[in-house]
Amino acid sequence: MDPITAVLQGVLDEIRQDDRGATASYIPELAAADPDRLAFGVVGPRGRVLSVGDDHAEFTIQSISKPFVLAHVLAERGLSDVLDRVGAEPSGEPFNAISLEEGSGRPANPMVNAGAIATTGMVAGSDVEDRTSRIVETLSAFAGRRLLVDEDVYRSESSTGDRNRALAHLMRSYGIIDAPVDLAVETYFRQCSILVTVRDLAIMASTLAFGGVNPVTDERVVDERVARDVLSIMSSCGMYDFSGEWMLRVGLPAKSGVSGGVLAVAPSQFGVAAFSPRLDEHGNSVRGQAIVEALSDRMGMHLLEPHESISQPVVDVVESPDGRVIRLSGELGYAAAERVLAALRDLAAVTPSDAVILVDGRELARAHPVAMVALRGELEALHSAVRFVE
Ligand code: GLN
Repeated sequence: MDPITAVLQGVLDEIRQDDRGATASYIPELAAADPDRLAFGVVGPRGRVLSVGDDHAEFTIQSISKPFVLAHVLAERGLSDVLDRVGAEPSGEPFNAISLEEGSGRPANPMVNAGAIATTGMVAGSDVEDRTSRIVETLSAFAGRRLLVDEDVYRSESSTGDRNRALAHLMRSYGIIDAPVDLAVETYFRQCSILVTVRDLAIMASTLAFGGVNPVTDERVVDERVARDVLSIMSSCGMYDFSGEWMLRVGLPAKSGVSGGVLAVAPSQFGVAAFSPRLDEHGNSVRGQAIVEALSDRMGMHLLEPHESISQPVVDVVESPDGRVIRLSGELGYAAAERVLAALRDLAAVTPSDAVILVDGRELARAHPVAMVALRGELEALHSAVRFVE
């Protein structure tokens, strides 16, 4: 077993004993799930999928489909069109609350049922089958394999989905949904019934982590901006009325579903997913959350703790026949530019004024405009023979 898989296995074994919570009972097919199933997977920048436990067990994606359908609609329609119909505020209410914005009828956000049904209602397509196949196509690209709908779960959900139908009727009365109610709702039930494994979810999470590029297939699935928008909404709304405390404790954008899946995203680092069907009172997997929390803690993934890499670009000083070359790589943001300039000042102080210092920025993975302006400006002032290659 490789060392990272051993870490994952250790976390899984620690958390296995926790049998609190219960499977979702309002969808009969979900109530029948084996409550002891437990799995956990991680996907990093090179697309290596590491997973432990029941990692090949399939379950329906449920609400974890919501961020990916949001990504689909954002890519097709753009942010302002989407925000006309769905808000971006945490609701502080359960996922299935019958609650819409006063006056406009807009649901609070695309992660609760009302908002997700409104989002699904915006998917193009002539009928349920056509719309579902577009959704399946997008989710499959995120997962890197062809996904399928579980017909039994779909029927089970459709036959007991009156609350969701009621929400759709209400939203249609406000003009939030243009499509006939059945078209929006049945498509939504089918999207929730897409089968995945924890490995699929980890790959889907990693595609969001790497700016919309699936690290396993190398396919660009959505634009970087779409991935960023989806992650922003997951950060504030992904865990329903536990989203605030989740952000506090774990510090990662995440999304849960009532079948027991949870995924979380450490931007630029990896995607992680866990599966365990017993849920807490918010409808979030008890052990799934514990796994992601343990991992975040042990790997220092909380977004809001200091991460040195953003402020410390790699600065290599190389002596070449043409003089000194300073090679920059990594990300150049405000704090990084400040550090590079400090290093350059030290170097300029000990370099004869007729010697050349070459600053080579061609290897920078990412350079932000303000940092570049600051760097260019100060470089000129610093040393008469500093040259900057970008
Ligand atoms: N299909 C479920 C529903 O609409 C999804 C809810 C969830 O996963 N939280 O109720």
